[in-house]
Amino acid sequence: SRTPFIAGNWKMNLDHLQAIALVQKVAWALKDARHDASEVEVAVFPPFTDLRSVQTLISADKIPLGLGAQDVSPHESGAYTGDVSARFLAKLDAQYVIVGHSERRAGHGETDEVVSAKSVAAQAAGIVPVICVGETAEDLEEHGAAAIPAAQLRAAIADLPDGAEFVVAYEPVWAIGTGNAATPEQAQEVCRALRDVLREACGDDTADATRVLYGGSVSSQNVAAYMRQADVDGALVGGASIKADEFSRIVQFKK
Ligand code: 13P
Repeated sequence: SRTPFIAGNWKMNLDHLQAIALVQKVAWALKDARHDASEVEVAVFPPFTDLRSVQTLISADKIPLGLGAQDVSPHESGAYTGDVSARFLAKLDAQYVIVGHSERRAGHGETDEVVSAKSVAAQAAGIVPVICVGETAEDLEEHGAAAIPAAQLRAAIADLPDGAEFVVAYEPVWAIGTGNAATPEQAQEVCRALRDVLREACGDDTADATRVLYGGSVSSQNVAAYMRQADVDGALVGGASIKADEFSRIVQFKK
């Protein structure tokens, strides 16, 4: 069975000093709540410049938080000014990396091919890609909810080796940062369709083991309803992940 996963995508927020303060607050809250990481896995995805500080804090204080980056280069090394390789992230104990976030697809022209190459690069370095897919409001109108995310997922996993571990995040673009969250039923319907894509492309074992998250205006008020859906295994949280109290409440969705 799949361990629920709550992931905090900080986006371009918090410098490394603010990052330390936030992780400390979240750590205290987890401790207060006697958080059991084997029951609900929690990870944070800070900007690159915060990773070293957060890694040091997590390992020094044995904080039960996973660490991920928000992007990765598809290349191993070389003349790619400004890019960060998966190997560098692995050296910082990053276990996860977000690939294909809609903000990168829209703002940096990331195609399905680029997202696939990034997934492969991460996997090759031992990092689990968190593959983001989702439709825009226009896509929804034109194709329905599941068609575009399903196609994005097929493309993103096409070149991964058999048995590769990855996480899928369904983030409807119209729900991100808008307060206009998908209903739990909408989220379930698309997460279910994405699991069907996995079943077809990778077989039952991968489809049953892979966690599919919902993201888009997740809060402490709505998280439990998503988590009750059969095919929603967690949440990718944006805005609410940089508020220590709110993020801690989201992590404790069972209480
Ligand atoms: P919000 O939670 O701010 O809507 O952002 C969702 C998101 O894009 C997480 O990757």
